[in-house]
Amino acid sequence: MYMPLPDDGFPSLISTGHLPPPDEVEALVRQVYARYKDLDEGKVADYIPALAKVSPRLFGICVAGINGRTFAIGDATHEFSIQSVSKPFVFALVCEAIGSEEARSKVGVNATGLPFNSVMAVELNNERTMNPMVNAGAIATTSLVPGDTAEAKWRFIQDGLARFAGRTLELDSEIYESEAATNQRNRGIARLLEGYGCMYFDALQATDIYTKQCSLKVNARDLAVMGATLADGGVNPLTKERIVSGEVAKRVLATAATAGLYERSGDWLFEVGLPGKSGVGGGIVTVSPGKGGLGVFSPPLDEAGNSVRGQRVTKYLSERLGLNLFVSQPE
Ligand code: GLU
Repeated sequence: MYMPLPDDGFPSLISTGHLPPPDEVEALVRQVYARYKDLDEGKVADYIPALAKVSPRLFGICVAGINGRTFAIGDATHEFSIQSVSKPFVFALVCEAIGSEEARSKVGVNATGLPFNSVMAVELNNERTMNPMVNAGAIATTSLVPGDTAEAKWRFIQDGLARFAGRTLELDSEIYESEAATNQRNRGIARLLEGYGCMYFDALQATDIYTKQCSLKVNARDLAVMGATLADGGVNPLTKERIVSGEVAKRVLATAATAGLYERSGDWLFEVGLPGKSGVGGGIVTVSPGKGGLGVFSPPLDEAGNSVRGQRVTKYLSERLGLNLFVSQPE
């Protein structure tokens, strides 16, 4: 049963086309941090043994505007494994490489309504992979990454995600090895997809690259900048480098809005009104097109795998920064 996020009665401000002035953003970031700092709900993921060791107290927030200005607080530079937050960015790189229509026809863009690692979703739907935000679609997306060898594909992903973040991203080898030793289910999903003709590289190698991609180390500030790059029509606001086209950014955000928060994606859109993607490492990235990105890091998760504090912080800021895409008022 979905537990609605707390409603404090604050009416969502109208989407203005730009973030409020810097001192207001800064004050709101400080406010929301203080508000949820001591919230003690949710459980740190433990199905990947190395993830279970992460402290539940860690808490970092960063807002990045499309002008490159960042507002960070708490453990915003503490590194954690990106996990599923990598999915929209790898999908973006693949769309840029093969075209978003081709990527859509191979991976799909509809929600499954089922957990991220569902095998039933593959069995029940003729589209099989369904979308790039769940494991089946994400492993298929990784199999589509340019490169003839696993090493070339991995380099492409590590480099591409680094360009989104505007800095080098390293692999967390402890998390990678821990997940690689326990990811039988993902290997099974990849093999199943192979049987349906939906894998575009060796199934087990694609799963291994996907596992590495999930083990890249990022911090909340990186997530905010990566999100701001998609908010800025595909141009990184810090480095000014174009990472993907505006067309690709738009398509990727549509898939994140549809399926970014696992089987709770409808609830998320209902509450927050923005495309986002969460990961079991405790990160959530949220994108406000034309305005900026928001990265939150807090490891305790709800049953679907979404950071509890991450969701609360994002809702609070979405309302007060006037980010919700669906808010309007009559002229
Ligand atoms: N590497 C994780 C898995 O495939 C990612 C899960 C997630 O963050 O949702 O199980």
